[in-house]
Amino acid sequence: VFQLSVPLNFLGSVYRELRQSLLDMETLFNLQKVAVTVKDKEGAPPLRIGGVSIPADVSSPIAKKPLHSPEIRFENVTFGYHPDRPILKDLTFTIPAGKKTAIVGPSGGGKSTVLRLLFRFYDVQGGRILIDGQDVRDVQMDSLRRAVGVVPQDAPLFNSSVMENLRYGRLDADDGEVKRAANKARISSIVESWPAGYDTVVGERGLMISGGEKQRLAVTRLLLKDPPILFFDEATSALDTHTESALLQNINAILREKQRTSIFIAHRLRTVYDADLIVVLEDGGVAEQGTHDQLVDRGGVYADLWSAQEMRFIEEENLSGESSR
Ligand code: ATP
Repeated sequence: VFQLSVPLNFLGSVYRELRQSLLDMETLFNLQKVAVTVKDKEGAPPLRIGGVSIPADVSSPIAKKPLHSPEIRFENVTFGYHPDRPILKDLTFTIPAGKKTAIVGPSGGGKSTVLRLLFRFYDVQGGRILIDGQDVRDVQMDSLRRAVGVVPQDAPLFNSSVMENLRYGRLDADDGEVKRAANKARISSIVESWPAGYDTVVGERGLMISGGEKQRLAVTRLLLKDPPILFFDEATSALDTHTESALLQNINAILREKQRTSIFIAHRLRTVYDADLIVVLEDGGVAEQGTHDQLVDRGGVYADLWSAQEMRFIEEENLSGESSR
């Protein structure tokens, strides 16, 4: 009994730290400016996806059997951080189940707001948000948030080894699983090149790592967590073009294989032109939507953004080609 209690106590404290970090991450994530006002309805049930209840408790796996991925629908959603200044105006669109959807559009159009509302950091002022038909206001918030995995623009790391930082994607993952996920996220060879490898301490008091490395660590966590809904918020913006396209290829292959509902917020259209659906948000509403080819043919906002970005991209490629010659 005595022999057992030592490692269990030790695990207990690691677990508490991990749990705290998970909570910190969810609070930290894009929340700097948020005053939390939303609450669970009394007796709210957990979110159900494909007949499976998503447990709120981070220590239990999201699901034992392979998960179905849900459809998400914004229905006549009206929202403003200040009621007299609406940001989303009667916004309606559907994110199809198991497909890759991109949300693009001019800065300030409301893209990140969509993510915050899906997470229920705020409640809508009109309309509703449905996940497989369930209003996000009617389900347990912790369960809802567990069902959505996010790779934010700037993923927080806590002060511990790389291995532990990654494992909090899924607490029961063994080292082999963590390393395989790191490999898919294109970060394993970098970690292995550090003298202490996966034992390297990162975070506030540890090794300073680059924005691009952080993003790949966040992708590793997400691959381990394997939630039914994946949200990438400018998740590869700190990477150079080549690393970014290699990582996106890996992510796309995984999304296709698992048929996950995924949403990409993107400024650079090159990273999402292959999406099954592209929703162009402008001034709080859907300006247009369709596939890349449909939108280019349409000759609207998307087509303009695309040609402007392509021109810039070609110019940059030419410049970098010249300077390396
Ligand atoms: P970007 O592409 O620049 O990230 P976005 O399309 O994601 O922009 P949002 O971040 O959703 O746009 O912001 C939409 C509008 O809401 C902006 O005008 C922004 O200033 C405003 N806004 C965002 N967060 C808050 C907040 N916490 N309080 C008040 N206004 C906010």
